Amino acid sequence: MTTFLPFSKPTIDEATIADVGDVLRSGWITSGPKVAEFEKRLSAYFGGRPVRTFNSGTCTMEIALRIAGIGAGDEVITTPISWPATANVILEVGATPVFADIDPVTRNMDLDKLEAAITPKTRAIIPVYLAGKPLDMDRLYAIAGKYKLRVIEDAAQAIGSTWRGKPIGSFGDFVSFSFQANKNITTSEGGCLVLNNAEEVALAEKYRLQGVTRGNWDEIDVDVLGGKYNMTDIAAVIGLHQLDKLDAITAHRRKLAKHYFDVLGPDFERQTGAQLPPAEFEETNWHLFQVVLPDTITRPQFMERMKALDIGVGFHYAPIHLFTLYRERGFHEGMFPAAEQVGRQIVSLPMFYAMTEADVERTCAAMKAVLARGA
Ligand SMILES: *Cc1c(COP(=O)(O)O)cnc(C)c1O
Repeated sequence: MTTFLPFSKPTIDEATIADVGDVLRSGWITSGPKVAEFEKRLSAYFGGRPVRTFNSGTCTMEIALRIAGIGAGDEVITTPISWPATANVILEVGATPVFADIDPVTRNMDLDKLEAAITPKTRAIIPVYLAGKPLDMDRLYAIAGKYKLRVIEDAAQAIGSTWRGKPIGSFGDFVSFSFQANKNITTSEGGCLVLNNAEEVALAEKYRLQGVTRGNWDEIDVDVLGGKYNMTDIAAVIGLHQLDKLDAITAHRRKLAKHYFDVLGPDFERQTGAQLPPAEFEETNWHLFQVVLPDTITRPQFMERMKALDIGVGFHYAPIHLFTLYRERGFHEGMFPAAEQVGRQIVSLPMFYAMTEADVERTCAAMKAVLARGA
């Protein structure tokens, strides 16, 4: 009997649990000193850029769009292969989502398709770094500069990833991260937004808490329509411990990814028809280890047979443009063929900090057996 191996699992140590207890006993359990400390530490990590924390990654993108003044009549270009949040925030602010198909190799937005999708109404781009893999950041920002577009990076999966040696988030325009439980570092739920200047920070703080600004004692005003998006100190203290481990987490994930390639061997793709991710161990944080299955097996069949062998398999993601909400806005099959193919057959194999190389070996053996059998 083997034990079930999930595809993802957070690692929370006893020191974290003790410090959460201290916050709960302190009498200050909402946003307070731990949030301030977490923001300071994140800012140091992102090269001194201003950072504010929130209660999700999703709301950071919505708030960035609002700070950029994007709304009705504006088009925002993103990828169809992401969590629904990435496109939903565009609808949330009243703007129009436009999709650019993916590059089937990186599974990220194809920058040629991005450039082709730009119209006079385009105001912003929301790129996604699927599995933590950055785009060609030089080209992305060259396109943004050429057409004067804002960039809201959906770096939900990319904390710890780098571009030319610099951490994602330490350069660029708005950069959004998620600390949801499955992400490389977590606060249980939460997120942060890297901003450009003091003016944006002031707006972010207002959008985070009902648009309120305060002065002395009883001075209070509301001049923008904000919401309720603040992080708690309970979450922030978890994040502080996780941030301490970020480099170790990233190094371990890269080691596990390398081990997947070594164990699967150089002939795996040719023998099975499956497609592995690009074998790159310097820049991506290996948030996910994703395989595109051959057409000889369906994804539900694969998931079921792996589960029977005690291996958990996730899938990230179904193409957003084929959800009902988006079909109702005119999107349909055939519009983004690469995203539709990858979206149908992509699976995420186990990949998390507490996982061992033996777990990788078990997963590879199971996958080879399942693919050899076929549908
Ligand atoms: C997790 C995730 C989000 C949403 O983050 P939440 O913190 O769950 O709101 C958005 N985009 C991508 C690509 C993600 O992986």
